[in-house]
Amino acid sequence: MNKTEQWLETATGPIRAADLGRTYIHEHLRIDLSAHKHDPDADLNAPELVAAELRVLKRQGIDALVEVTNRGMGRDARLLRQLSEASGIRVMVSTGFYKEPFLPPEVHDLGERELAEIMRREILEGIADTGVKAHVIGEIGTSRDEIAPAERKVFAAAARAHRETGRPIFTHTTLGTMALEQLQLLRQWGTDLSKVVIGHLDLRCDLDYHLRVADFGCFLGFDTIGKLKYESDERRAQLIRELIERGHLSQIVLAQDITRRSHLAAHGGTGYGYLWAEFLPVLRRNGVGDEAIETLLVENPRRLLGVSV
Ligand SMILES: [Zn+2]
Repeated sequence: MNKTEQWLETATGPIRAADLGRTYIHEHLRIDLSAHKHDPDADLNAPELVAAELRVLKRQGIDALVEVTNRGMGRDARLLRQLSEASGIRVMVSTGFYKEPFLPPEVHDLGERELAEIMRREILEGIADTGVKAHVIGEIGTSRDEIAPAERKVFAAAARAHRETGRPIFTHTTLGTMALEQLQLLRQWGTDLSKVVIGHLDLRCDLDYHLRVADFGCFLGFDTIGKLKYESDERRAQLIRELIERGHLSQIVLAQDITRRSHLAAHGGTGYGYLWAEFLPVLRRNGVGDEAIETLLVENPRRLLGVSV
């Protein structure tokens, strides 16, 4: 592959960033947080249902998604490759560690450099013996209104792995809190903030807060679309329009963050198709046109995900 052009790694091999189509930026196809949540619904393990939904997504015109499940969250890289092959949806795989209390023992046992080395290896050499390489570092998270010491160590390790590999970093904020603190830490550790997505900001739709986040030059994750417990999709769409009016179109990315069995359409949830079929009409009605929507779904992911190293 020509080293001077932007490219990215998928579960089925590298592609040119220019060939990436419409992309959901923060999803899970197989994830298991049930042990700590004490809730079997948090074990999303339904490959056939997921593959069927992904095939529908492909027909709708979605090309790819970033799968942000990592170590300690039930990541299954082999399955991600199979789901990609079965559906035609391209999948970008992640490395890293999530947040308390989901951090595996290695986060507590190892130092920052060793954790960074694990991420670097999964990016450059592959995930165990699967032959699948991680493309992004994420989702790395912080707790609600605080950054626990082990979470801070993971952020430092992620920044180190990012400096060594140039790979983008995807964060998880708990209900949109600690975004500014995440950015300050990442900047302090030499991260290129144009390669960072702050996740779940649409669980806290506050224009002033979003503008302060945007000032850092990062991407803003409107990545829990369809989750209506904290914010309505109408409010999400209004805030996206307000951010676009203030010049931040190039910093917004979209996804649903499907994480539970009950989120699947077959189990009565929104399903992966909701963003395309239900949310985009809400966006259009709020004054965000098709050209801007293509920027959100195609151009922004290409710029965020493409790497030249
Ligand atoms: Zn998350």
